[in-house]
Amino acid sequence: MSKVRVYELAKKLGISSKKLISILEELDVDIRNHMSSLEDDMAQLIMDLVSEEKGSKKTKNETPKTPEPPKNTEEVSTKPKIQKVVLPSKISIKDLGSRINIEPVKLIKKLMDFGLMVNINAEIDFESAKKLIKEFGYEAEEEREDELAELEKEEETRPEELKPRPPVVTVMGHVDHGKTTLLDAIRETNVAASEAGGITQHIGASQVEKDGKTIVFIDTPGHEAFTALRARGAKVTDIVVLVVAADDGVMPQTVEAINHAKAAGVPIIVAINKIDKPGANPERVKQQLSEYGLIPEEWGGDTIFVNVSAKNRIGIDTLLEMILLVAEMAELKADYNARASGVIIEAKLDKGRGPVATVLVQKGTLKVGDAIVAGPAYGKVRAMRDSRGRMVKSATPSIPVEVMGFSEVPSAGDVIRVVSSEKEAREIAEKYHEIHKEKENITTPKVSLDRIFDRI
Ligand code: GDP
Ligand code: MG
Repeated sequence: MSKVRVYELAKKLGISSKKLISILEELDVDIRNHMSSLEDDMAQLIMDLVSEEKGSKKTKNETPKTPEPPKNTEEVSTKPKIQKVVLPSKISIKDLGSRINIEPVKLIKKLMDFGLMVNINAEIDFESAKKLIKEFGYEAEEEREDELAELEKEEETRPEELKPRPPVVTVMGHVDHGKTTLLDAIRETNVAASEAGGITQHIGASQVEKDGKTIVFIDTPGHEAFTALRARGAKVTDIVVLVVAADDGVMPQTVEAINHAKAAGVPIIVAINKIDKPGANPERVKQQLSEYGLIPEEWGGDTIFVNVSAKNRIGIDTLLEMILLVAEMAELKADYNARASGVIIEAKLDKGRGPVATVLVQKGTLKVGDAIVAGPAYGKVRAMRDSRGRMVKSATPSIPVEVMGFSEVPSAGDVIRVVSSEKEAREIAEKYHEIHKEKENITTPKVSLDRIFDRI
């Protein structure tokens, strides 16, 4: 990867470093000073932007060009299906980028192709956003401000009712850097400590205890899961554990993961893995990551790094301690007594048990017998199992449970809510069907478990 320093690029562009830094800041590019390095493609983008900015002054009053098909097919080819995204009537470029996981600069660049000059904080209307993201293979749907939205209206938060809740953690990183092994190590260490011989049931999320505190791990750390959930507007993760193999260093999916986490505003803890290997070089990983703004504390930064060997079960306890530390600083809270709601992490049709879904409770306490609705699915909570496979009667905020009793299979990312009766749940689900009928040709991206597990 060749790189160019900020001052070098400024010189090339014939502008001052200060001016370039201010442009970079406006584009939300993480840089520290004129000595910071920029990736090649970022440098190219800036060069294009600056030269087009100069040129656009002449073409400003021309009619916008008709959008051309995206030239960079790379972005499109990773998303073979059209993905649906729900957007508000107005959205900033920055937020839009984070919803669809496309760097805002790319959106700005595309808008320029349409003859529009905007900055990262500019808000564009729904129709423009729709046109824009179509270029990246997304289908936009306007947020419903109708009856259904009225029915879905959330209760007001009651600050005095907020109590601490466990952190929800997602493990991300480049393929083969050890995400699966690390999750296994965390679970096993935990099981061994508390109930030796216990069998971990797969429900898509797991719950571990450390020093009497709970940490929840989403087991589907595939970037696709993260993307699909986020594209639907669901925020599930409080902390990202970024796994980087000490012998391999920063790789493309490492950078992708950093971008996902940053776009979502989620703190990152770096787990430098495979420190048992002869070629391990944790210092090099730190060096590389500091280029992306992840600077270790010993170098004056605020990112926590933990050396681990997932394979040899080294550093796991420290990692869990650090997660609890970051969680404590984040002051994660929820109202345990509110009407329960949460998000569907994954769902499937089980031959024997019918539709089952893993729900991450985000608010209130979900109980057996509650009337529930999640997208097109409704029902009554018939039974719930925790991540160890034990039947439970209730689930509090941040706790993942497998829920049985849905009329059909909801989608990952659907919001699940408790309503006052099964009748009301059915009415809401019917309304959902009605509203979505005319849009049935656009399929909601279902998170395919097989595909995710391929990639964990
Ligand atoms: P993932 O693709 O990120 O989920 O990576 P995996 O967990 O599947 O690990 C990829 C490979 O690296 C497997 O062969 C693991 O056994 C190996 N591996 C994972 N963690 C370690 C480690 O700490 N040390 C060593 N030596 N190998 C590891
Ligand atoms: Mg894997």
